[in-house]
Formats: sequence, structure tokens, C-alpha cells
Amino acid sequence: AENAAHPNIPLPRDLYGPNRRNSRGTEFGERAALEQLVSAIAAAPLPAPRSIADATESEANAAILAARDGFKHWARTPAETRAAMLEKAADVLERRAAHFIALLQREGGKTLDDSVSEVREAVDFCRYYAAEGRELFGEGKAMPGPTGESNMLCLRGRGVFVAISPWNFPLAIFLGQVTAALMAGNAVVAKPAEQTPLIAAEAVRLLHEAGVPASALHLVAGDGRIGGALVAHPDIAGVVFTGSTEVARTINRALAAKDGPIVPLIAETGGINAMLVDATALPEQVSDDVVTSAFRSAGQRCSALRLLFLQDDVADRMIEMIAGAARELVIGDPSDPATHIGPVIDAEAKQRLDAHIERMKKEAQVHFVGNTPQGNYVAPHIFELSDASELTEEVFGPVLHVVRYRADRFEQVLQSVERTGYGLTLGIHSRIDDTVEDAIERLQVGNIYVNRNMIGAVVGVQPFGGHGLSGTGPKAGGPHYLARFATEQTVTINTAAAGG
Ligand code: NAD
Repeated sequence: AENAAHPNIPLPRDLYGPNRRNSRGTEFGERAALEQLVSAIAAAPLPAPRSIADATESEANAAILAARDGFKHWARTPAETRAAMLEKAADVLERRAAHFIALLQREGGKTLDDSVSEVREAVDFCRYYAAEGRELFGEGKAMPGPTGESNMLCLRGRGVFVAISPWNFPLAIFLGQVTAALMAGNAVVAKPAEQTPLIAAEAVRLLHEAGVPASALHLVAGDGRIGGALVAHPDIAGVVFTGSTEVARTINRALAAKDGPIVPLIAETGGINAMLVDATALPEQVSDDVVTSAFRSAGQRCSALRLLFLQDDVADRMIEMIAGAARELVIGDPSDPATHIGPVIDAEAKQRLDAHIERMKKEAQVHFVGNTPQGNYVAPHIFELSDASELTEEVFGPVLHVVRYRADRFEQVLQSVERTGYGLTLGIHSRIDDTVEDAIERLQVGNIYVNRNMIGAVVGVQPFGGHGLSGTGPKAGGPHYLARFATEQTVTINTAAAGG
């Protein structure tokens, strides 16, 4: 029955990649597959529970204690077995892609392109961490030493990991955090964003069905207060967090204030991401890449472009082209495959963005104001600032801020980017090698995209994560990620004294 409801449709990879410009994800022989997906989504069953009760603080504490017990067994489950479970989860996720896409559209307000990419990314995380974990947590590493003794270095789970995730990638980031922590041998208590608990519940169900014991993986729904209770618990061994810089700081303070063991925090946070465009850039490509990077996903990506630096001799022409391309974007119902921009996550997000837009209308030069439909929608906007320092915080929506610069003032552009304090993504459009190299060497930015759009964090291909106000690293979907969830143990044995 499951196969009838969930036909096995190949999920396209990297819908925003550089070879996909203007493709809207439906070229390159994938149109038929996507059309099939759309009808499967319409028929997809929604999850049985339509709502999830928030946990109380005592339930949150109970989950930590249960995970502490679960850890004893899970830590001794061979890495190979843990990896096989993640791979099984990936297979089932692929088979139920239509169901998860439907859920991402309905609970997360995501467009077809975004939902498909997200399911793809979630599947990739499961498989990548399984493969990496098999290597890392398998046998241990024999260290060379004197004869008569053996030295082994092993990575082991730390204990109970708390995983706190945002609403903007409610499946991929949620599963990425959880599968990494599990693969490293930790028991996990996962707290999804309060806006998207149903997707998280389905993801947890998937992992339990794939064999992860209920004692090793617990879901605790609720808002920041419940997240705070989990972080404050004395029995946790680590926290992995993705979300705003402000909340990461709150968590960091709470961990530092606790007695007992030092608890590490892995944090991936926000950004004021810039793109630098000089007069040698290809205008059509810039326009396409700016629109994709700033407006697609309603600007609700941590990687999205916020600050566009344009060399003054090409600025007017570029702005005109970008506004022209923005005008073509279709805003509306995310379940309609023709839609490019769906709603923002909730009324609060809309209010915050509307307030920023009103302020910009008074303080900045207005270049483009899109038509906003009724509902929690925010259309693309383009404003020009006289100085980059006027943008002081991450604006999490489809609002682009342009700053002009003179060719002989490129150094000041680099300084402006540094001064934001963030270091998540950076775009560079230039055909001068020295300019590109200069920016790459100077700026401590986690992910740099040269002559393409800034959307791309393909697992195992573009490991993702930032510096400074943007996070602690290591990069998700990269080879150093799993080790940070583990603790190291060196065992030295006098082999001459081995018993017989
Ligand atoms: P948020 O910081 O408001 O919330 C994130 C999570 O933290 C939620 O689950 C929330 O309930 C929880 N939380 C809130 N207060 C807490 C507290 N005091 N203690 C413990 N947990 C608490 O972020 P959001 O609005 O859900 O997501 C958007 C933000 O996430 C943006 O800033 C975006 O840039 C960032 N983000 C970063 C990345 C990355 O990889 N760097 C990826 C996606 C999103």
C-alpha cells in the first residue's frame, strides 16, 4: 500500500545549482518526474496527528533522563548498525518523498522547488553521515608506538545531545543535526522550532521505524522556554543549535553558568550576507543570481543575499535588470508549481518585515516594491543605502539592500563586509582573478560563491557553516562535522602483560 501512495520518483539534485539557471527545476529531463511528483503530493496522506502538544518542563526533564538511560545501550551499538539505520531511514524518506513534500508545503509554506530540494538534502545528510560515521567510529585508529604496547585512539559518543533547530529547514536541518548526533553515538533529545513540529514528529517516526530505539531519540515540542529547560539540565553532554545569533548567545550563557561538566555548543547562526559585483561581471548572470539569492525562498534562508555592492558605473543598469527580473516572480500559494515565492513563516515574521520595509521607505532610496498578495506574504523589495553600516541586523525576508562603490574604493567594500561581524556566505561576481582572490583571502566567510548564486549547500559537496557572529563551525555536510559530536579516548595496553 505504501508503494502505491508513495511512488518511487527520482528526486532532482541541487535545483539552484549553477547549471540550472532559469530552469525552475523542470528542465534537464526532470519535467516528467516533477509532474508525477506534483500529482503524488496532491494525493499524499497527511500525518495522522494534525497537531502536537507542547511538552511541559517536567516532560522535557524526563526526556533527558530517559535519553541518559538510552545512551548506555546506544553507545554500545556498533557504528555499522547505526549507519545501516540511517541508510534505511534515507531509503524510506525517498520512498515517502511526496508525503514529506506535501508536509513542507503545508506546515512550512515551502514552494515545490524548495520542498523537493529539502527532502533531497535530508536524504543526503542521512547517507553522508552514515558513510562518514562508518569510517570515523568503526575500528579506532592504531597509533604507532614502542613495541610491547598498543595504542588505540577511538571516537565515542558524549552522552545526551540536545538538538535545537529552526523552522526554515524543518526537515533537513532537523534531520541533519539528529542523525549526526546519533551517528556519533549520542542519545538525542530534539527540540524542533515551535512553527514546524509536525515535520519533526514525522522525521522522528521515520528514524524509529528504521531501527533507532525510542530510548535513544526523543522529541520534545515547545518554544524557547522548553529549549531553555533542556539546555539548563545538568545531565546533558552537548548542544547542537541552528537559529539566530541572539538565541545562540543565550544558550552559550546558560551553558557557561552551569556547574558540572563543560558542555560544548555547536552553533550555526545568521548572517548579513554580501555580494560584490564589479564592472567586469556578466549582467544577465548577476541579475539572475541576485534574484535567486535574495528573493527565492522568500529570503528565508540563512545564506540569502542581503547586501549587494555594485560598482557605480554599472549600478543603474544592474538595478534595472534585477528589478525587471524580480517583477517576473510569482508570489502565492506554495502548492502551485508555478509559484516562485510562498508565504513567510507566520504573521509575526510578516510584521517584522513590514516594519523594516516601512523604515526603509523613509530612510533609503526605493528602487523596487513588489505587489504583495493578501495573507502572510512579503513581496521582493529593493532599497539603496548610502552606507552598508545602515543595515545593522539580519533581515530574514525578500528585502535587498544595495550599496554603490567606486572602483578605487574596493578596499572599503571589504572593510564594510568585515564590519558586519558575520561570516556566513559571500558572493563575488567579477572576471578579474586578483579581485576574487583578494576578497577570498581577506574575508573570513564560511561559504563563498564566485560568479554564481549564493544558494548551495549540497551535502558532501559544499560543506556549510560560518564564522564570527554566524557560528562556531564545523561545517554541516562536511568531513569534520561528526567528530565534534564525539569525545576521544586513547587506550594504551601493555601487550607483553596480556593475560592468556
Ligand atoms: P530562533 O533563534 O528564533 O529559534 C531557533 C530555535 O531555538 C527554535 O527551536 C526556538 O524555539 C529555540 N529557542 C528560542 N529561544 C531559546 C532559548 N532561550 N533556549 C533554547 N532554545 C531556544 O531562529 P528561527 O527564527 O527559528 O530561525 C531563523 C534563524 O536561523 C535565522 O537567524 C537564520 O539565519 C538562522 N539559520 C542559520 C542557519 C545556518 O546554517 N547558519 C541555517 C538556518 C537558519
